[in-house]
Amino acid sequence: MADTRGRDFLFCNLCGTMLTVPSPKYAQCPLCKTKKNIKDICGKEISYTISAEDIRRELGIVIMEEQKVQLSKVNKKCEKCGHDEATFYTRQMRSADEGQTTFYTCTRCSHQFQEN
Ligand SMILES: [Zn+2]
Ligand SMILES: [Zn+2]
Repeated sequence: MADTRGRDFLFCNLCGTMLTVPSPKYAQCPLCKTKKNIKDICGKEISYTISAEDIRRELGIVIMEEQKVQLSKVNKKCEKCGHDEATFYTRQMRSADEGQTTFYTCTRCSHQFQEN
């Protein structure tokens, strides 16, 4: 059995598709069927490793940006159930004149409402 661990981020230099390693001797592009000798790839492994790191870094940035949207609790009366605690976040609207809109989510009934 071919061990594909550590070779997941090898890409076809013709079409950019991730290569599969059906044999310990060669890797193959599943799309255009280009074969690469494993020995050729091993010589280039460092640059491929860097691209894999770049991908992970990009994913890491995406995840971190998601986490930046922290929900803070605020005393805000829910217009639906009357509960007086809600989480909120603000979002800049596309149009500059509209400014920021604050979105509230009731911590009891999850009703969402907004306030300019
Ligand atoms: Zn290809
Ligand atoms: Zn509510």
